[in-house]
Amino acid sequence: MTAVPEIGVLALQGDVREHARALEAAGVRTRPVRRPEELERVDALVLPGGESTTMWKLARAFDLLDPLRKRIEAGMPAYGSCAGMIMLADRIRDGIEGQETVGGIDMTVRRNAFGRQVDSFESDVRLSGIGDAPYHAVFIRAPWVESVGAGVEVLGRAETGSNAGRIVAVRQGRLMATAFHPELTGDFRVHHYFADLVRRATEQED
Ligand code: GLN
Repeated sequence: MTAVPEIGVLALQGDVREHARALEAAGVRTRPVRRPEELERVDALVLPGGESTTMWKLARAFDLLDPLRKRIEAGMPAYGSCAGMIMLADRIRDGIEGQETVGGIDMTVRRNAFGRQVDSFESDVRLSGIGDAPYHAVFIRAPWVESVGAGVEVLGRAETGSNAGRIVAVRQGRLMATAFHPELTGDFRVHHYFADLVRRATEQED
């Protein structure tokens, strides 16, 4: 029995350390994952923000793409933020030539969707399942979710400006994704939500 679940952070590229810190604040153990053997050992995985094209190329070079797909198909919980959201999408728009994802969430995600003139912005978002107080979300060259399949729960939408209504947080069973970076703000409610999901999933398997 795993008393305290161990959550891997995909450590090919991106803000790995910030996620590890946020997860530890949420009461779980963490381990960087770069190789298939490391992936085998963890109970769940976070795919950080960074650059999805680089992450995809490195995942391919490190022979991680298929192991990632297999573990996700077998029910491993996973959470992706920003570039990590792109990696968990079954379909992407505005990817580079040949860009692949790991997939798992039945959604179409558009890369760099919020546009170049607003590469970064911050906005309050109400997220279902994490309490009433709005979540202060940081978006950095962020994607949005263009469409979701029937099994995907929308957890949050952009609330201001011309992009109000765009989906920015989703969950499908044990998989979740946000277009923003909850690891950067010190408000770790999203990581707590994921850690709880992982605890329930590992209890079911014990
Ligand atoms: N624009 C990046 C990409 O396509 C994502 C940005 C981020 O993770 N902050 O991967």
